[in-house]
Amino acid sequence: MEEFKTIDELISLKGKSALITGAAAGIGAAIAHRFAEAGADLELVDIDMEGLKLQKKELEKYKVKVNLHRVDLSKRDEVISLWKNLPRAPDILVNNAGIYIFKDFLEVDEQFLDKILEVNLKSVFWMCQEMIRRREKEGGVIINVASIEAILPFATGLIHYDISKMGVIALTRALAREYGKIGFRVNALIPGGIETKGVKKLKKEAAVKLRINMIKTAINFKNRLPLGRFGEPDEVARIALVLASDISSYMTGAMVAVDGGFLSS
Ligand code: NAD
Repeated sequence: MEEFKTIDELISLKGKSALITGAAAGIGAAIAHRFAEAGADLELVDIDMEGLKLQKKELEKYKVKVNLHRVDLSKRDEVISLWKNLPRAPDILVNNAGIYIFKDFLEVDEQFLDKILEVNLKSVFWMCQEMIRRREKEGGVIINVASIEAILPFATGLIHYDISKMGVIALTRALAREYGKIGFRVNALIPGGIETKGVKKLKKEAAVKLRINMIKTAINFKNRLPLGRFGEPDEVARIALVLASDISSYMTGAMVAVDGGFLSS
């Protein structure tokens, strides 16, 4: 039996460090804020250094250490040198960075598909490999961000994205199975309908360019949501905190949807 811990102790990330990818914006930035509030030191990774710098400024109030890393996650050599340069391997890894670019299935060429798979799936593979290699003795927590689209394809023009995110789910479950006994917990966070800048930009683009299909999809999507509204990045970040902390000490290999009920309706 583990010693009894209070809720405050369970949720705390004090003394821990967390690496978060795609932390310059959206869900990744929101996760960085909640983790900092819970006391974690942060290694923030993104291709957008300006965005990272803005986040660092906003995170000052939490008085935790924040290191920034400009990395193009689609390049394996950049991922490897990121890990080489880390002062210590993080206790928590959040693979959140991802790109969702709409393209008709029949127009996808090899270069485009490679790019999507490199950013959304292969980078997660290499990041997990480095994490487990570096923390074989201590174990750790990994959270991989997938998507409702992988489980229930809804929008048209995202087939390449759907397969990348289903790959992330398969990777998560297989790692959970293989590395649980040496102290790793690996879970998939499955957001849907979260109003990040990226999603707002897509909506605006659809309206301006009168992309009727995309507008229709957005309306149908909203109508289907049991909660009847889109979600906020912080609503995903709060569940990331649950998965990162000892609150979820008996969870691994899980697929945790934060989707306003979309997958259930
Ligand atoms: P976002 O576009 O707002 O932010 C993604 C971040 O990833 C950006 O800061 C971007 O610069 C970074 N990034 C992109 N390519 C990169 C690369 N090659 N190297 C390093 N960084 C890179 O996205 P978001 O809406 O916050 O989504 C975050 C994650 O959640 C993604 O994996 C996305 O697929 C997933 N997701 C989002 C939603 C949603 O509704 N927003 C739904 C399902 C899944």
